[in-house]
Amino acid sequence: MNGLHKIVENISLDKLRIIIGDRTLYVWGAGNQGRGITRVLQDNGIDPVGYIDASPKMIGQKISGIKVESPDIISKLPVDDLFIIIAVFFYEQEISDYCREGRLVQGKNFIHYSSLKPRDYSIDVSGSCNLRCISCPRASKGKVKPPGLGMPFETFREVIDKIKIEDPFVGNIQLYQWGEPTLNRHLPEMIRYARQKGICCAVSSNLNNNNIDFQTIIESKPEWFRISASGWGEQYEITHTGGRWNVFIKNLERVAMLRKEVHPEMKVELYYHLYKHSIGNDLKKFHNLCEELSIEFHPVYAYLISLDDVLQYKEGIPLPATAKEAQCLMLLDLEDGLKIAQSEASLPCDAFRSIHINADLSVSNCMMFFYPEENRAVENFLDTTIDEIMSIRRKCDLCKRCMKFGIHRYCGVYSTYEPDIDTLIKNE
Ligand code: SF4
Ligand code: SF4
Repeated sequence: MNGLHKIVENISLDKLRIIIGDRTLYVWGAGNQGRGITRVLQDNGIDPVGYIDASPKMIGQKISGIKVESPDIISKLPVDDLFIIIAVFFYEQEISDYCREGRLVQGKNFIHYSSLKPRDYSIDVSGSCNLRCISCPRASKGKVKPPGLGMPFETFREVIDKIKIEDPFVGNIQLYQWGEPTLNRHLPEMIRYARQKGICCAVSSNLNNNNIDFQTIIESKPEWFRISASGWGEQYEITHTGGRWNVFIKNLERVAMLRKEVHPEMKVELYYHLYKHSIGNDLKKFHNLCEELSIEFHPVYAYLISLDDVLQYKEGIPLPATAKEAQCLMLLDLEDGLKIAQSEASLPCDAFRSIHINADLSVSNCMMFFYPEENRAVENFLDTTIDEIMSIRRKCDLCKRCMKFGIHRYCGVYSTYEPDIDTLIKNE
């Protein structure tokens, strides 16, 4: 099983300088990973001249003064003068193949960022959520905690300091996974501290709280602000269960306005979950609204985000009632998704490289699983070295059960289907 977890050579900063020499450096990937690694490189006196990205939305943009080029740039530059660091979470293999077709040699002209940064980190600073979305394990098992709890700021500092010692190339982290980060009132201080340490932060919010001080959060300069929605008006509240449309829409407009006034470089993206009830005119209205507010619009087919439930289902345990409700609304069926995932069971797991630290400092074996049972690698991140954590995770039974059914590929299956917006708008 461990053969399915990628093994990477770890390249030091000094070795990287020697490999690059005086060649022109590009970072492939203008997303979270690319921006993070760029920040670390710049902090260490290595300056990429540009990003490369295949997304038409990104090409031509400037991110902190660095231009995003299309992949065509490769054919326009002399191969011997070029060095690329591929910094993407998905499609690493496809991009490597593209580079090889352009006569670039792995190790000489390009490397994967995982050779520099073998691990990603997510810190669930809140540990609680105010919604109970039916596709989420919180709908069936989560317990509501009052807002304001979560990881203390001092603890967060220690976590960041340890990460920087153990993984100096870490330049980006996400401050969420199963929690609503804005419920932690220390969020702005946390973002500021991470930035001081050369780490860009991604936050995600359901925007369903009237009492969040978005101004202070955005002034602290998160790099990335991710929002999710599904449906317009009352329809929104079906799968963003417990949410209130009026609060959401007011906060969405506020975040867009604050981005413009306070932190224009912050990437704001709206993940629009495509269900049977959220296509047609609702999809069109959201698409138009995002254009109006200059928010990146990403429609994605909805899936069950609780891999706990998906795994149990494959093992013969029925889905919880809430997950069944979500299943009935999905456009790409659970069974079809599982069949494709099973066919990819022999491929590596991308999630294994992610270290997920919970608000109580415990570390999960896997960030994609929510329930703590069988999913606690260690109780305290601060007391355990990263090598020990990885060693424990490599022996984890949960991974064996998950990989048997290819469930480690399940979420990726849904992101590989590019939705045809025009058709889905016509399909009411
Ligand atoms: S999907 Fe996100 S917003 Fe919805 S309940 Fe789960 S953690 Fe909360
Ligand atoms: S449990 Fe998580 S880390 Fe392990 S194989 Fe499955 S998705 Fe990957």
